[in-house]
Amino acid sequence: MDPSPVIHKTAADLRVAPNFSDYEAERRRFSWDAVSRALGVQPDGGLNIAWQALDRHVASGAGDKVAFRFLALDEVPQRDVTYAELTRLANRFCNVLRELGVGRGDRVFILTGRIPELYATLFGSLKNGSVVSPLFSAFGPEPIATRLNLGAGAVLVTTDTLFTRKVAAWRDRMPDLKHVLLVGEGGGPTCIPDTLDFGAMMQRAPDACEITPTTGEDMALLHFTSGTTGTPKGAVHVHGAAATHWATGRYALDLHPDDLYWCTADPGWVTGTSYGAVAPLLHGITSIVDPSEFDAERWYGILHSQGVSVWYTAPTAIRMLMKAGAEAAKARSYPHLRFIASVGEPLNPEAVWWGKNTLGLPIHDNWWQTETGGIMIANTPAFDIKPGSMGRPLPGVEASVVQRKEDGTLELAETPDAEGELALRRGWPSMFRAYLNDETRYRKCFAGDWYLTGDLARRDADGYYWFIGRLDDVIKSAGHLIGPFEVESALMEHPAVAEAGVIGKPDPVAGEVVKAFVSLNKGFEPGEALRLELLGHARSRLGAAVAPKEIAFQAELPRTRSGKIMRRLLKARELGLPEGDTSTLETGSGS
Ligand code: AMP
Repeated sequence: MDPSPVIHKTAADLRVAPNFSDYEAERRRFSWDAVSRALGVQPDGGLNIAWQALDRHVASGAGDKVAFRFLALDEVPQRDVTYAELTRLANRFCNVLRELGVGRGDRVFILTGRIPELYATLFGSLKNGSVVSPLFSAFGPEPIATRLNLGAGAVLVTTDTLFTRKVAAWRDRMPDLKHVLLVGEGGGPTCIPDTLDFGAMMQRAPDACEITPTTGEDMALLHFTSGTTGTPKGAVHVHGAAATHWATGRYALDLHPDDLYWCTADPGWVTGTSYGAVAPLLHGITSIVDPSEFDAERWYGILHSQGVSVWYTAPTAIRMLMKAGAEAAKARSYPHLRFIASVGEPLNPEAVWWGKNTLGLPIHDNWWQTETGGIMIANTPAFDIKPGSMGRPLPGVEASVVQRKEDGTLELAETPDAEGELALRRGWPSMFRAYLNDETRYRKCFAGDWYLTGDLARRDADGYYWFIGRLDDVIKSAGHLIGPFEVESALMEHPAVAEAGVIGKPDPVAGEVVKAFVSLNKGFEPGEALRLELLGHARSRLGAAVAPKEIAFQAELPRTRSGKIMRRLLKARELGLPEGDTSTLETGSGS
């Protein structure tokens, strides 16, 4: 493989002294015990994410600091919620649950937009020892019911509008659901039969509460992740996970006390909970919450006028910003912005450079998944970026590449540039503890001390990891193993291509041939001439063995709600096969 260009960091790139600068030394020095000490000891001896995220700061005198700034949307004005106020709201919600007889281990589901009530419910449930599961509010009735039933949801907090549109007709199919609490979207009381008024109950509830004694191993959060087929899997996370969120906020996001931080993910996706709520609160910083959906103009406006300093977003958003053109970005200045990170999908080298050239800052890709609960591999401020790489394992994380030998046994690859399944050594605090009700599947994810991630990767001689693809998505063509990402990245280097999704299509001779689906940037029209040009471009970049044999144009590629291109859906549609679980599909499964 060609040596990749590297983005060398300069003091100007960093703007403030980063939280660490010597990667190897920090890895040697690191211990999870030291992280636990930094997070403080809960007076009652327990360990609860909500105490670490909220009460700890109030107790140390930082209660007046703004925890979340909820931006204005339509008639709802901007609202700042301080650490003290969020603590009070969480206490009240904890008391609401107790009044209802909801206790430790009971499941509380949230189906709302990104409004203050979501965060009060999240942390109030944790204080009560209950288990929280935030869902995307854009889910349709069926995915909501499936998840509530899988998770045995006893409580649902939603809005009157969402309830009427998505839950009411399905309620008798949710046998575990005892209480539905409605937030009135008009701001007033709600009066729908068999439901409770969230606002009224919160008003009556006392401001103070004792936290239910929980330990680091108590179940705290339940996040659903889509399988390739069948029903979604519920990944179980525990209170002890906070140690990972704090450490990774420090190393991968470089959070500093005065930062104004914006994580664009919805809490319906694990990123929006781990990094949109928990990690910034653990660091005692102020976060922006935008209740609105993606809009390039609005986003540039937020970065500029709110003075965002650390921005955590996703490749799909970056690609959409790129599609909107550089002029839109350059129409404003971002003097406070100092660190940009991205997660969720491979970040094409083009996008890393786009950040550098357009916003003046490279984009730091990092890697993790619902099961890992927190960031595992990252481009950090402490070392140079190799655009297209996911970076290196964070302090406290041991990663490797595992290969299957001919006799079927697994072996850790030692040589540089070895390709294989990305594996992580057990022991980081936010590792998922179970797939809900599916012990067999959980056990299958481990080989001895190693958790097998289901992703294929390459580790280079400098210890950087390069994403190849999901094991399920990798293409085998005429003896070559082809990762869709490298083909997609090559296509995206062409100015016409906004997004690309690549699949293997069964072929009697080659086994599979590569087929690409592309959407185009503004100002380009699909047509035979462009198709041939793209085929030629890919062949010259990748060689005939790896380049796509077929290219099809699509206005939009199918994506999950968290922004991932659904290659398996492109493949199923191409081959006329069943589409499997499409509950997280962005278009078509909405309202
Ligand atoms: P989820 O559990 O929905 O967050 O999806 C996790 C999966 O997204 C991972 O297993 C990867 O396949 C993919 N993913 C996440 N971050 C990255 C990244 N930085 N580069 C490549 N793939 C990623």
